[in-house]
Amino acid sequence: MSSQKTILVTGGTGFLGSNLCERLIRDGARVICVDNNYTGKLKNVASLQGNPNFRFILHDIINPLEIDEKIDQIYNLACPASPRHYQGKAAIFTTKTCVLGALNMLELAKKHGATIFQSSTSEVYGEPAVHPQPESYRGNVNPIGIRACYDEGKRCAESLFFDYYREEGVDIKVVRIFNTYGPKMNPEDGRVVSNVICQALRGEDITLYGDGKQTRSFCYVDDLIEAFVRMMATPKGFTGPVNTGNPGEFTIEEMAKMVIAKIGGKHRIVYKPLPKDDPTHRKPDITLAKEKLGWEPKVKLSEGLDKTIAYFKTELEMK
Ligand code: UDP
Repeated sequence: MSSQKTILVTGGTGFLGSNLCERLIRDGARVICVDNNYTGKLKNVASLQGNPNFRFILHDIINPLEIDEKIDQIYNLACPASPRHYQGKAAIFTTKTCVLGALNMLELAKKHGATIFQSSTSEVYGEPAVHPQPESYRGNVNPIGIRACYDEGKRCAESLFFDYYREEGVDIKVVRIFNTYGPKMNPEDGRVVSNVICQALRGEDITLYGDGKQTRSFCYVDDLIEAFVRMMATPKGFTGPVNTGNPGEFTIEEMAKMVIAKIGGKHRIVYKPLPKDDPTHRKPDITLAKEKLGWEPKVKLSEGLDKTIAYFKTELEMK
């Protein structure tokens, strides 16, 4: 009997999903990549197309999914994750993706006896009153704000995961992802790292929202994917949630100044209004990840930014 695992990745053409698909293929798995390509791009998995271990299915997980071969593992990553994409006209769609998507994938996991991984988010902590945030912190989310579709959608998905675990015995693995950056980020995503790098490379003004003193903890994508794979490999019954992120905390302004110094040239920083409900600070407590996954991030922000700048240089030249 072959020990090769068949792994389904939803959101497989997105930033994290495509990096994960590449990693799983490198590790010898068969990968079924599912995406509606709403924010994902097929070109992110171009290197995998034609590989006999890889197949792509165009599908929106708001709708149930049938798979004709036995699946061992599911990574549920599908969801617009950037405020630019999940707010405004896509808010209802985002809640549906979080909630109906989780429901459909949990049903699929149940049917296949598969282990299912949920990419939850630091957004479940909202505007945190506890700093840094441990998993035990229950959060401070505005349920009617413009970020709620994502924050509450992901919170409801967590609740569904734990009910499928308790009621249906589904093997679940939940991680809460903090800000992540690296190659295959979408230049149009509106995230701070991609915005600042692309603006600096294009010689545009650098946009900082608010006074730029809000903090984020930025994790390089390879480190995050390593945490995913380790989480999936934990024994049945270890459910998480586990914080996955880099505890190095920087103000947005510090990060922007690092990027500007690396790219060189004269750049004007312009300050724009802070979006509503934008968290003022965020930093993971990763004690649990260290203990249960033997994991902590290895890539320093400066090194990760170098790699990300190199990626965007190529991306922007291709246009
Ligand atoms: N931000 C900024 N300039 C930009 C884009 C974002 O100053 O061009 C800020 C944003 O207001 C937030 C932080 O950077 O405080 C991180 O934003 P991002 O959208 O990357 O992630 P999230 O808000 O989900 O943490």
